[in-house]
Amino acid sequence: MVVIPHKAPDGDAIGSSLALMHLLDKADVPTHVVVEDAFPYFLDFLPGAENIIIWDKNKAEAETLIQYADCIISSDYGQLSRCGKLEKYVRANPCLKIMIDHHPHPETESYDFLFHDVASSSTCELVFLFYEQFFSDIALDKSIATCIYTGLVTDTGCFRHALRPQTFDTASALLKTGIETEHIITKIFDVNTPQRLKLLGFCLNEKMVILPEYKTAYIHLSGEELRSFGVKKGDTEGIVNYTLSIEGIIFGAFFYEREDGTTKISFRSKSTFPANEFSSRFFDGGGHRNAAGGQYVGPVNLAVKHFLKCLPQYKSVLESLHL
Ligand code: 5GP
Ligand code: MN
Repeated sequence: MVVIPHKAPDGDAIGSSLALMHLLDKADVPTHVVVEDAFPYFLDFLPGAENIIIWDKNKAEAETLIQYADCIISSDYGQLSRCGKLEKYVRANPCLKIMIDHHPHPETESYDFLFHDVASSSTCELVFLFYEQFFSDIALDKSIATCIYTGLVTDTGCFRHALRPQTFDTASALLKTGIETEHIITKIFDVNTPQRLKLLGFCLNEKMVILPEYKTAYIHLSGEELRSFGVKKGDTEGIVNYTLSIEGIIFGAFFYEREDGTTKISFRSKSTFPANEFSSRFFDGGGHRNAAGGQYVGPVNLAVKHFLKCLPQYKSVLESLHL
């Protein structure tokens, strides 16, 4: 069995994939996690993280595992293209395909079995339900619980967004295994390097642009700026959220230039503003209503120019929304 989180994986994608790996291993189904590219350093503490096979670093092993898998699980995405360069190997294997995900618009035709619910806080919350429905005879251990808790915490912004009663029921069941919740939070959030804090200071002090007429704020970083701060994977995570912490701001964006010269964008919104619709219309992206991402084929300054050209189409929507 192979579990594949989405490319540029986050805490929910890696947490859910590792939880599935531990669960299936315990059920005597040998399972590997294979991902296109590296995950943020603050997830290194997760049990089993050292066994994740990263295609960028180990192409032959990753491709062989996918080629010979008898079942492939997509974790935390609903479109096969979200597993990036691994997509063609997944499509070439006619084996059973399972999706476990909470994003809107699942690509149902590419899967045999869907465990999908947009109302779920996180894919990790769905992994817990998956466990309850199919593997409840297996004892939940601290490794599984730590991985699931990580996705709950990261996708809800520490129990701030996307909550429903089951989210807390899940957290409650996880805590009963004896997981150290403070330790988990410390490992995820209190791992700033001095460079990362300086980068954040630079973003807030010199790079934040506020457009009150659009209730929008954005930050953009060029490749050169990222290099000058010695940025590594995960360092830019969460910066976008500062745009939404400004009173009255409903739509926030964070742009950064990738090494290949293209631009990655994170969108966040409040209220009913559809960040995912904006991203899919103008930036080849998608995601949730209030947390989405996309890309632009070109440098960051042109991506921002495109953003500013598209924004007026949503001016009346933004004007009509109040917090
Ligand atoms: P982030 O901004 O943290 O990278 O992503 C926010 C949300 O949008 C996550 O749920 C993520 O899976 C989704 N997302 C990010 N980038 C993309 C993208 O390029 N395409 C799609 N469909 N979803 C994305
Ligand atoms: Mn998720």
